[in-house]
Order: sequence, then structure tokens, then C-alpha cells
Amino acid sequence: MEIKITKTTNPGQKPTDESKLGFGKVFTDHMFLYDWNDKEGWHDARIVPFGNLNLHPASTVFHYALEVFEGMKAYRTAEGQVQLFRPDENAKRMYNSAERIGLPPVPVDDFVQAVEELISVDKDWCPHTDGCSLYIRPFLYGTDASVGLHTLHSAQFCIIVAPSGAYYAEGINPVNIMIETEDVRAVRGGTGFTKCGGNYAAAQRATVKAEEKGFSQVLWLDGVERKYIEEVGSMNIMFKIDGKIITPSIEEKTVLPGITRKSMLQVLRDKGYTVEERKVSVEEVEKAALDGKLEEAWGTGTAAVVSPVGNLTINGEKFTINDNKIGPTTQMLYDTLTGIQWGKLEDPYGWIVPVK
Ligand SMILES: *Cc1c(COP(=O)(O)O)cnc(C)c1O
Repeated sequence: MEIKITKTTNPGQKPTDESKLGFGKVFTDHMFLYDWNDKEGWHDARIVPFGNLNLHPASTVFHYALEVFEGMKAYRTAEGQVQLFRPDENAKRMYNSAERIGLPPVPVDDFVQAVEELISVDKDWCPHTDGCSLYIRPFLYGTDASVGLHTLHSAQFCIIVAPSGAYYAEGINPVNIMIETEDVRAVRGGTGFTKCGGNYAAAQRATVKAEEKGFSQVLWLDGVERKYIEEVGSMNIMFKIDGKIITPSIEEKTVLPGITRKSMLQVLRDKGYTVEERKVSVEEVEKAALDGKLEEAWGTGTAAVVSPVGNLTINGEKFTINDNKIGPTTQMLYDTLTGIQWGKLEDPYGWIVPVK
């Protein structure tokens, strides 16, 4: 893929105080665009100055939510090198998401090349402060100018980049979780395994409701029996029960196949932990909590890496996990993953891709 680069003549002011970066509000100078139509396929790959998109109001994305996205980061090492973490995994996942939604998948190599070249152009925007990063948001959407929904004729792929602050600027605080029993986010045969905007729309009401009640995340149950645990917020979830690591299986395609989840399971197995990927019922977790065997619980995702669960409310009863503190296994996973990502630890897996 040949990428045409047009640099901005009006570069933005880079944040001077990286401690005030926050998340996803400031964007770099450039973005990537790639067009698709059914006659030419993917064409016109370009890096252009960051700016508004020009879309027809009838574009499919606005009416029928034909949209999928990815979330990944670029990290700066102490030596100044900017690097990516498993970008091919994001590319493959977006390919699978697009296929499920009926969008033209972006070839995996084109996705990775686009991310690499865009980050290379905007490399100076990558923060220097420990824990800060460039958050990368690739997204793909249908652009047919018609409110009649048929096979798509046109689509666009865009990547924007946001310098972002340290997720745990004030230390790792455990979260309290509410089990959602009314709304569900996914059913078998649906889009649970895809990173599509529509999944977030389905999840929004429960998320807001939980926040109003003072919880920071929702624990999602399966859409059929509402018995088995699937995910927490927009993270995968893991439990340490009686020394064993148990996490919901992704086999039925109702759970998002997290790259953090996949990486952690590998680290855990390599360190000799017993890991079980299977159905986990609320009842099983409740029983473990009552028996004093629920040692740790944590969410996993790119944004936070880990999010320890401090409190879990089941049927009105609030269970506190590990004294509302981050546990040793959760801490080990956080240290290992962030160590590899920021180049403080050696990467024995070949997960790191340096940006030129
Ligand atoms: C993105 C996402 C995750 C975490 O995936 P990572 O690849 O680890 O960032 C988990 N659940 C949902 C619903 C997500 O959208």
C-alpha cells in the first residue's frame, strides 16, 4: 500500500503539562484515511492534517450503525523509542469485526502499515512521562449516501491518535462492580465478539445507571440464562479462586476477545498458574466469596491494563475482595505487561513492534 503524506502547515501546540492530558480529548496533527468502494476496492491511502470528516447525512453509519473500531497504544521507552504492542492482533480483530457487521475488512497488513506510518509522522506527540501513551483509535464505517440499507457500496477507514495521561496517575484504585440483571450486551449469534459501536450503545443505559448508583463498572451476564459472567464494563474479567485463575471462555462469541486477556493468559500459563477458560456462574463466584476462596478479581483491557475489583455486589450482598486492595497476581500481571509495553522488561514473546 502506497500512503500519500500531506503534512500540516499549522502544527498544533503539544501539551506542555503531561500530567493534565486526560484521555481522548487532545489529538495529534495528522490522521489516516483510506477509502473503499465496490468498483475500486481499497484505494487512496493518505495521511492528512487532522480535521473534520466530510460525510453525507444519509451515510449508513449514522442510520444503521455500520461501524467497528479498535483501541491500541504507542508507548515511549526510557531510551526514547516509540513502540506498539501486538498491532497485528488489533488488525485481525478489526477484520473479524468488519466481516460480522458486513463492512469491507481492511487487509491486516494495510492496517498495521497505516498505524506504523501515522505514528511515525506524529511520533513527537508521544508523551515522555511514565505511564502516558498515544492512544490510537482506528475505525471503519459505511458511507453509502442512502437511507435504504443494502449491500454496501462505499466505506472509509480512519485512524486518529490522542496523547493520553497515565491511567493510574493516583495509584491503582480497585473498583466496585454491580451485576446488571436487566440489560444484556450480547447474545449467541450476535455481535458480542466484535468491537462495534452498536455494542456500546446497547451497554450505555446500564453503565449510566450503575454510575448513578455509585458503581464504577457493570458486570455483564450471558443473554440467555443471565447466570454466567461475561465481562466487566469494556474489559474482560478474571478471577483467582483457591489459587486457580478462572476466566469466561470466548468460545461462544459473546465475549470480546481482548488482546490484554490473551496476553495475560499466556503470561499466567508461563508462570505456572492453572488457568481455566470456561463458563463461570455468578453462583460459583458467590460461593467462593462466602467460603473465603475468592482471592482476587480484575478486569483486563488496553486502557487500564488491569482494573482490580475491590467490591462485588451479588443479590444485594456486598463482597469485599482482598481487602479492597490490588492482589499479588493482579499486580504481577500489571507489572509484566506494562514492563514489556514501556520497554522496562525484556519482551520474550515478540509482542513489541518499534516505530521507525
Ligand atoms: C476492547 C474491549 C475489551 C478489551 O480488549 P483489549 O484488546 O484487551 O483492549 C474488552 N471488552 C470489550 C467489550 C471491549 O470493547
